[in-house]
Amino acid sequence: MSSLWLSENLENELMVQKYTLNNSKNQYLETDVCIIGAGIFGITCAYYLSKLGYKVTVLEKDKIGFKTTGNTTGKITSQHGLFYEYLTKSYNQKFAIDYLRANEQAIQNIKDIIDEEKIKCDFEYQNSYVYATDKNQLKNIKNEVKAVQNLGFNCEFVTKTSLPFEVEGAICFKNQAQFHPLKYLYSLCECITNRSGKIYTHTTVSDVKKENDTYVTFSENLKVKSKYVIIATHYPFINFPGFYFTKMYQSTSYLIAIDPKKTLFNGMYISAGDPSFSFRTAMYNGKRLLLIGGGDHKTGQPSCYEDSYGLLEKEAKKYYPDCEILFRWNTRDCISLDKLPYIGSYSSLLPKMYVGTGFKKWGMTTSNIAANIIVDMICNKENEFAYLFNSLRLKPLKNMDEFKNILIQSTNSLLLDKLKSANMKFNEIANNSGSIIEIDNEKVGIYKNTVGKLYAVKPICSHLGCLLSWNDIDKTWDCPCHGSRFNYDGKNLYDPAFKNLDVYNLEN
Ligand SMILES: Cc1cc2nc3c(=O)[nH]c(=O)nc-3n(C[C@H](O)[C@H](O)[C@H](O)COP(=O)(O)OP(=O)(O)OC[C@H]3O[C@@H](n4cnc5c(N)ncnc54)[C@H](O)[C@@H]3O)c2cc1C
Repeated sequence: MSSLWLSENLENELMVQKYTLNNSKNQYLETDVCIIGAGIFGITCAYYLSKLGYKVTVLEKDKIGFKTTGNTTGKITSQHGLFYEYLTKSYNQKFAIDYLRANEQAIQNIKDIIDEEKIKCDFEYQNSYVYATDKNQLKNIKNEVKAVQNLGFNCEFVTKTSLPFEVEGAICFKNQAQFHPLKYLYSLCECITNRSGKIYTHTTVSDVKKENDTYVTFSENLKVKSKYVIIATHYPFINFPGFYFTKMYQSTSYLIAIDPKKTLFNGMYISAGDPSFSFRTAMYNGKRLLLIGGGDHKTGQPSCYEDSYGLLEKEAKKYYPDCEILFRWNTRDCISLDKLPYIGSYSSLLPKMYVGTGFKKWGMTTSNIAANIIVDMICNKENEFAYLFNSLRLKPLKNMDEFKNILIQSTNSLLLDKLKSANMKFNEIANNSGSIIEIDNEKVGIYKNTVGKLYAVKPICSHLGCLLSWNDIDKTWDCPCHGSRFNYDGKNLYDPAFKNLDVYNLEN
């Protein structure tokens, strides 16, 4: 299932110059900054740094923008759900004002890049709304309006929107925006390579080692020596030091794009309550489509069609009974326990290595903020917003409930679940489905394809050894602890893991 953005195969059309390694071992490169990961965060860092004259090398495991960025909704907004009352109460008013200013600045920065580089990426200003459809949520909306107005920002409370259903009330931020995330990303890549930056795709980084004043980044056939390293892998893949796996979890959401066969509304929307829905429009082949998002759950927790795409399709048919569903896709993002991204030094033990992660499904603006903070750190310049996201902060535990969940989930998946016997038997697994079974007291992950062909893997995550769970929607093995994902045949799909699963050949 491919996203609307990825379906257009733009990477080749836009002539992004990529480098693939030949098979000779031990190729060696020197660069100023080595950036690991070619999503919007890594590419934005590379864009700004190459503009300042730094020699940049980007190493990407897959293709450019094929992971979270290629599957996003693509709203560019400082309205991150109902967030400003939380920030004011959990921190203080100045903190909330600065968070808002940083995100408003990011919208402007993205627009400036688009104008300067003449990027055609369907950028359009739109108002952004969080709406309530029942009276219980209305109080939260009104409190948020008050909190945002107290910050001196001109938001509005409205009771009418152009959505095809009634709302009790909504908070509106004006002059927010939406775009085609990959048209933007690939154009940045062209700017980078035009300035002699290098982007190596299909290059999985397995380690980074400090050698005196420099770093050496290792992938299978390539070593890159650099003064600075930026970990832009979405979920940091270096576990120690840093310990990001104790401070974040991943959350999955689903999206559909429909041809409504009707005129569409203006604006970008997200609901305040549960189940949560997100709406925006987007151009595709000269037509305006509607994107509907929702069905959130912690990555690795079981879901089913009815609670994911089914839920979105039902919502679509309610208002657009004749609609045609053109695309279905899902992706996930990292959420820190205090709901703020980690931006800055990777660890106090690794000077000149930087990170940007935990964008909480609002990474279009926060990745731009992150890139600016890290570029300023490299250039030894102060950044007034850096303190908001300090990656070395020691008190991430605002969200005690989720912290307990992480501990319970990790204990279960690392230990207790491995001791329990599997309750499914081989014969009970239907075609086009999978499960963990036991063979000679060993747990084996089995998938039977539509015609009964078997795929068997060791269902232990190659990141930190958690027991994986079967995802019947995507036919993948998912990690309930840290959100890594693997195809049914064991191929690693998503970070933080980067190695494939061990596979069994059951025919022998
Ligand atoms: C369903 C959904 C909807 C969203 N909608 C919005 C929205 O409307 N607005 C908004 O602001 N944000 C949104 N977000 C969030 C936003 O999409 C993300 O925060 C952002 O795309 C993350 O970008 P990234 O560069 O950090 O990660 P990615 O795009 O995932 O890039 C990381 C890259 O690193 C590579 N990599 C990983 N490990 C290695 C390795 N070992 N070696 C080499 N390369 C590696 C990966 O292959 C990947 O290409 C949404 C998120 C979700 C889940």
